[in-house]
Amino acid sequence: MIDERIYGGRSLLVIGAHAFDAEVIAGPLAATAAKRGLDVTFLHLTMGEQGHTSLSPAAYAAQKRDEASRFCAKLGISWRELGYPDAFLPDNDEVALKIADVIRELRPDTIVTHWQGSWHKDHRAAANATKSAVLYAALPTLERAHPAFSPSLLLFGENWEDDEGFAPSELVDVSEGFDAWREAITEYELARGLSSFPYVDYYSALYRMRGCLNGSMYAQAFSTTSHSFNAGGGMFNAKSSTKPRLSGCGCGAHE
Ligand SMILES: [Zn+2]
Repeated sequence: MIDERIYGGRSLLVIGAHAFDAEVIAGPLAATAAKRGLDVTFLHLTMGEQGHTSLSPAAYAAQKRDEASRFCAKLGISWRELGYPDAFLPDNDEVALKIADVIRELRPDTIVTHWQGSWHKDHRAAANATKSAVLYAALPTLERAHPAFSPSLLLFGENWEDDEGFAPSELVDVSEGFDAWREAITEYELARGLSSFPYVDYYSALYRMRGCLNGSMYAQAFSTTSHSFNAGGGMFNAKSSTKPRLSGCGCGAHE
């Protein structure tokens, strides 16, 4: 069962394009995981500093750093950023390698990021970079500051902006963390009416709706990687825990 795979792990890493994305694609999940003793980290690729109705990007970035810090403090989790500019997150290997370095350093059992079917270019870039990062993190021949590492699970979270072809193939009980998330999310001005989109109403109802289908009070939906991604990279569900999970491109020539 996926709940046991996630909550039975040691750590969880959530990678979002903008501060506030990780908070909605895996907020109650993170709160539940932290309550159960997992080390949880949010990685914001940009701070999402564009688009405030009155603040400059620099001022809004500073505000969002404060908001991220207060949100995470309430949930007992950590956060860090890569510092790319909002709306201009590159879809390239530089970003993927920086994410790979974080994966190698933190060694998360489970990674959550965006589903690729998004109208927002930064969300698509985050999804692409994270998938590449999982490969780079696992490549034993790629020398970086930390040794190679493969997570056991890569999941794509549910975000109102990433709805093109999103399939909620996994439902995870997040009832234990919902109340903490509901209280902490209001640290963000985005959750208090800055945007015309009613974030808190939408996500609270969404988590409850997923819970109805899951037989729990609240649940979050995730899409999983394809069978070919898992098998081709060889990075997940290793046959033996003593064997490196990834030995190359999966063609067998690198065994
Ligand atoms: Zn976003």
